[in-house]
Amino acid sequence: MTGVRTTCAYCGVGCGVIATPQADGGVDIKGDPNHPANYGRLCAKGTNLGETLSTVDRLLHPMINGVQSDWDSATTLMAEKFQTSIREHGPDSVAFYVSGQLLTEDYYVANKLMKGFIGSANIDTNSRLCMASSVVGHKRAFGTDTVPGTYEDLENADLIVLVGSNLAWCHPVLHQRILAAKETRGTQIINIDPRRTATSDLVDMHLGIKSGGDVALFNGLLNAIVDAGAVDQDYVDQHVNGCDAALSAARETSLDQLLNLTGLNSDQLDAFYAAWIENKRVVTIYSQGVNQASDGSDKVNAIINCHLATGRVGRVGMGPFSVTGQPNAMGGREVGGLSNMLAAHLDIENPIHREKVADFWNAPTLPTQAGLKAVDLFDACASGQIKALWIMCTNPAVSMPRANDVAAAIKNVDFVAVSDIIAKTDTTKLADVLLPATGWGEKDGTVTNSERRISRQRGFLPAPMDAKHDWQIICDVATKMGWGHAFAFKTPSDIFAEWAAMTQLSRDAGKDLDISAFSMMNDAEYDALQPVQWPIKSDHSDTRFFANGGFYTSDGRANMLGIRPQSTPQIANTKYPFTLNTGRVRDHWHTMTRSAKSPTLSAHMGEPYCEIHPIDANALHIKPASLVCVESPHGSVILRALITDRVQQGQVFAPLHWTSLWASKARIDTLVPSLCDPYSGQPELKRAAVNIRPFAAN
Ligand code: SF4
Repeated sequence: MTGVRTTCAYCGVGCGVIATPQADGGVDIKGDPNHPANYGRLCAKGTNLGETLSTVDRLLHPMINGVQSDWDSATTLMAEKFQTSIREHGPDSVAFYVSGQLLTEDYYVANKLMKGFIGSANIDTNSRLCMASSVVGHKRAFGTDTVPGTYEDLENADLIVLVGSNLAWCHPVLHQRILAAKETRGTQIINIDPRRTATSDLVDMHLGIKSGGDVALFNGLLNAIVDAGAVDQDYVDQHVNGCDAALSAARETSLDQLLNLTGLNSDQLDAFYAAWIENKRVVTIYSQGVNQASDGSDKVNAIINCHLATGRVGRVGMGPFSVTGQPNAMGGREVGGLSNMLAAHLDIENPIHREKVADFWNAPTLPTQAGLKAVDLFDACASGQIKALWIMCTNPAVSMPRANDVAAAIKNVDFVAVSDIIAKTDTTKLADVLLPATGWGEKDGTVTNSERRISRQRGFLPAPMDAKHDWQIICDVATKMGWGHAFAFKTPSDIFAEWAAMTQLSRDAGKDLDISAFSMMNDAEYDALQPVQWPIKSDHSDTRFFANGGFYTSDGRANMLGIRPQSTPQIANTKYPFTLNTGRVRDHWHTMTRSAKSPTLSAHMGEPYCEIHPIDANALHIKPASLVCVESPHGSVILRALITDRVQQGQVFAPLHWTSLWASKARIDTLVPSLCDPYSGQPELKRAAVNIRPFAAN
């Protein structure tokens, strides 16, 4: 059979895949040599997608209160429950919690239903946990949530700085691209991470920074840039506001404080600063170690400040570059999948923007203020504000901070619907109604990767049993609620065309997100859509942003911000003396609903573990490979001890993937508090105060 060109289901690199169903029922997977994200490369997760496609453990029928039902009954009940809640308690008594795994078309209709027709902004996404701080940082600096860089910049850079990013495991194909650049053009790579990871092993310099020291480090860099006379004064004069304020904030940190906050010595700092200043073509890649922090937005702006001061943005081989975790975190940002955004990068607080969106959708009402962000949304479930909740394509009872409390909060909601491909997860077991969705390989739509490249996901397998596409389920419920006229989409290409037409509003409002060239696209053209980066220019000229020094702020100038380090960076205390860092392993993905189906992927790491420094292990009488109990004020887990000096003394690291379906005490995020960045609402998932002790079974 002919191969189908599609896009990988996992991370924000967005690799092109050629999937070829085989006569024996299997599916052959190859990297797409023509896809600009990967040019044929795939990592282990992408390569083994074929092992994840069986329908064993799939949710195959609508279920009501644990009993098999049918679509008509399930969607009628949902519409009734949502309408009753809205009538009796107002539109803000309902909420959707969605996912960066949804395709753009699914995301678009979910957002349209909640914001345009239900009239609430209570739709938030697990991407809140992934990159919300970057969104804030971009908006504060550039006026829009614009990622300026492209993957090609990595191949044109002289220095790549990886901050809080284990690229080798979390974005492996991007990592392969930068290693190839290192090989061919001698690109220097510096890795800034409290932990020594697989990424750190292959770099020119690893800076084992103290957890939480990033703002101080980049403020120190800004000072060093000024001291070295490396400010691009012409660029700053013409294109940047706030340079003096940023510098004066940076100057407040003394050298002693800098050394103390970063945990680095003067030689390390000097070497990093010299490399950054001497190499004009610098790309600073940052990921969850920056975003998932209670000062994540400030970290992002501290990084961007250095690029703006030197004019190193919007030019070949240079710029700040946030890489997204999920396959369609970027697509969700575009269509307004966050509770504080409208689609097409329009602002919910802006009455002109609201009016334009309401007109475009012919919507009865639009919320006038931001809705609940993820952590607040589940707190509102706990408090009883949310009476009806729809969770799509995600597993918050495992992945949210204070996961035990989140599970209890979901249980507290009067009516809960969950759409998923899997029958049994920690979240599906809390639902009143379960809705079987199609998964990767069965559905059609688009995703946008970290460099703003839109790619098609194409189905090549039939929907199993009763499973439906997410966009269809959402449109069915919207129709039952009386809004069928606005949700009469027949195909994902209908939705994509409407979404593309909507981006004209972004252009009209002087914003960046314009794919309106696709608004007249028919089904055949949609089927044939090639990976394409926005903005779409009719003359196919460079799609780089900010090349001319113009930004999307009211005066067209970028903003440097005065950023100060947190006053209390340490979170460990006498009762919980260790700092827990959480993250991914190479071959599993999120809560393992897909990756655990692959025997090959599961062979990499067979069980959850906890990295602990040898001196700490010795002091606590913890033996290699023994079981340990890790406790916080919010929960406790039992893990295998991995004694290693890859973590610093006083720190422990544990992967996030395992769920209570594997073992009752395996959910790491039960330990993590819900401390959030005040601007982005993104929770601090990289630092939790914990205690650790040998585990003795009773
Ligand atoms: Fe898939 Fe990401 Fe691996 Fe590419 S790098 S194959 S998108 S998991």
